[in-house]
Amino acid sequence: MDKIIGFFIVLFFLGVAFTLIEKRFAANKHKKVFRKSWKLDFFYFLFNPSVGEFLKKASAFIVIVPLYILVVGEIPTEETFQQGFGPLGAQPLWLQAIQILVIADFIGYWTHRRLFHTSPRYWKIHAVHHSSENLDWLASARLHPLNEIINTLVFAVPLVLLGWSPISVASVTPFLILHGLMLHANVNWTYGKLRYVISSPVFHRWHHTKINEGGMKNFAGLFPIWDILFGTFYMPKGQYPQNFGIDENMPESFKGQMLYPFKKNL
Ligand SMILES: [Zn+2]
Repeated sequence: MDKIIGFFIVLFFLGVAFTLIEKRFAANKHKKVFRKSWKLDFFYFLFNPSVGEFLKKASAFIVIVPLYILVVGEIPTEETFQQGFGPLGAQPLWLQAIQILVIADFIGYWTHRRLFHTSPRYWKIHAVHHSSENLDWLASARLHPLNEIINTLVFAVPLVLLGWSPISVASVTPFLILHGLMLHANVNWTYGKLRYVISSPVFHRWHHTKINEGGMKNFAGLFPIWDILFGTFYMPKGQYPQNFGIDENMPESFKGQMLYPFKKNL
């Protein structure tokens, strides 16, 4: 019960903070606070940290535990699993956290680009996230659970099986969540010279535009270096993306969006 109350308190303060920041630094000045589909995105905000998180953890457990037993030769306890193993798991936690963030972001870049934006089957999963035409902090939660499950498995399976300690990134998780919300916020922040070092709201908002307005660019979650290296970096100076969404008809109901990846005839 305390966790639920705590969640709503955090959500309330996030709502107040992002509303004030978006008002002061708006990239799209005409976007309203209670814009179209805000109730749907608010529901995602309740669904993904609870049911979505459970599905993600259950999937990771089902996939990783049998592989862990095969690789390590023993059934993991909560403690042994969190500690990692071998030379990689023996490194200082801060060093492991940096390594995990860099490798996971590299894997995430290619998963995002070559799987979710290239394969029609996987695009239908990811299209749910891109379907918001009113991109703001609240829209960041609009993610199909399969999107989250695949994203987690592609980096967690190799990293855990090579011995890295999952607990090493626990301390930075709140910052990663906040960073994810900020990426989608309706603000005109580019982070100046740091735009090439860390992904900014403007950097990611270009990713959410349609193809003729910069879409299919800026796939990195954290480090734009991947986009710079692989030719997908796009941040024209002095311009802000204006139109978001996709070129197909996405259902406007939660149920319709959950079923969308399973619809035939794309
Ligand atoms: Zn995308």
